[in-house]
Amino acid sequence: MAAVTDDKKVSDLMKETKPGFFSFEYFPPKTADGVTNLKKRMSRMKALNPLFMDFTWGAGGSTSDLTLDLTAACKNEFGVVANMHLTCTNQTASLAEEALNKCKAVGVRNIVALRGDAPRGMDKWEAVEGGFTCALDLVKMIREKYGDYFTVSVAGYPEGHPDAIEQVEGGLDVLTEAERRRCRTFIDEEGKEVLMVCRDAKFAEEMTYLKAKIDAGSDFIITQMFLDVQVFHDFVKSCREYGINVPIIPGIMCLTGYGGFQRMTALCKTRLPAGMAEAAKAASTSDDDFKQWGIDMGTEMCRNLLDSGVLGLHFYTLNLEKVVVGTLKNLGLISEEQAAGCQAGDVDAKSMVSAQGITTGAKIGTDDQKVSDLMKTSPPGFFFVRILSSQDRRWSYKSEETHVAHEGPWSTFHGFHLGCGWLNIRFDH
Ligand SMILES: Cc1cc2nc3c(=O)[nH]c(=O)nc-3n(C[C@H](O)[C@H](O)[C@H](O)COP(=O)(O)OP(=O)(O)OC[C@H]3O[C@@H](n4cnc5c(N)ncnc54)[C@H](O)[C@@H]3O)c2cc1C
Repeated sequence: MAAVTDDKKVSDLMKETKPGFFSFEYFPPKTADGVTNLKKRMSRMKALNPLFMDFTWGAGGSTSDLTLDLTAACKNEFGVVANMHLTCTNQTASLAEEALNKCKAVGVRNIVALRGDAPRGMDKWEAVEGGFTCALDLVKMIREKYGDYFTVSVAGYPEGHPDAIEQVEGGLDVLTEAERRRCRTFIDEEGKEVLMVCRDAKFAEEMTYLKAKIDAGSDFIITQMFLDVQVFHDFVKSCREYGINVPIIPGIMCLTGYGGFQRMTALCKTRLPAGMAEAAKAASTSDDDFKQWGIDMGTEMCRNLLDSGVLGLHFYTLNLEKVVVGTLKNLGLISEEQAAGCQAGDVDAKSMVSAQGITTGAKIGTDDQKVSDLMKTSPPGFFFVRILSSQDRRWSYKSEETHVAHEGPWSTFHGFHLGCGWLNIRFDH
């Protein structure tokens, strides 16, 4: 087997490359077909010459092996500089180290150090025993144990982290000028205008914490998606005022479908510039119409950012290529020929779900059976199973009827015959 060489570090490349580079983020697909499609897409998108490609770490560490495999394939099969996300959710310090050792073994040298979101179904983020409490802990560990082997990047939030954004009563009048520039307003289902913002005091805490992540040894910042460029410019100004002098790379969300647009902006509590919500709705007449709107919007935003002197653009591709390719072509960052080589098979990835729970639009698989229909056709005595956690490897339950405890490895879980009622099944390591 050929010796594995070390990858280039993104922090070094940023110094050598002229401004105007771009990079692509992908998430690990859920199915084997999805992985095959993604690899084909990566192979086509490689021809666009991104500075690097990066791969998300599934919520709660759910895709760790696949994330590692895709990152290694990116570097060693496709010859593209690879950047891997690593989160602290459900992650002990030793598991994080294991993942970093695997990266080192395959020569991957670029890591995005993140806390991660709470696993699906859990409201609040909690550290596991022997785990990290925030991204800062992870950055510190990487520098302590691996010196400068890795380029480490971290997340930055131009509007404030969603957990730090609160609903405010009293309208815009109660906000400061800075708050007014980053607040989100929208009309709720009852027709009431809702105002949400990261208040100045909270924003100051966010900036102090971000500075600590940088001081601990992070090389650059990738931002959360934003749709109002003014919010990004204000954020960069604040960073510089707080003494954060590393490159800040804007994260550009590719607007590929109206449903995704609504879900993502609600999830991230993103500020929409005046008229954008209405324009997005008007563009939702067809998939193609919306994508064309996404390309036009993306082009306008990126042009503004490049004119302001950003070093590069990091595209959240959602594993699709049409919007990112259209945007890069409009910006003159790729040629007509490069764009043409990339447009095949956009439909392949429509049913993918990202690490952050963002779906790209179409549904996965066939329609399910309706419980109401099943109730009419099943004999009395059926039961439901409520799965408490699907990530661990053992199940156990105590029958509410007989009070007998049962447990076993997942491979032996074939179902139960207990009569009516709910079963709370627990899966343990
Ligand atoms: C570029 C980017 C990539 C992402 N990739 C992934 C991914 O691959 N997988 C995934 O699951 N999620 C991903 N996410 C989502 C991310 O995991 C969540 O936003 C998560 O809630 C926070 O992660 P973080 O690294 O920003 O956390 P942290 O930097 O730890 O911060 C989280 C929040 O807590 C506050 N905080 C934490 N510690 C302190 C402290 N000591 N003092 C004051 N405030 C503190 C911060 O200010 C911030 O508000 C990504 C987000 C971005 C922007």
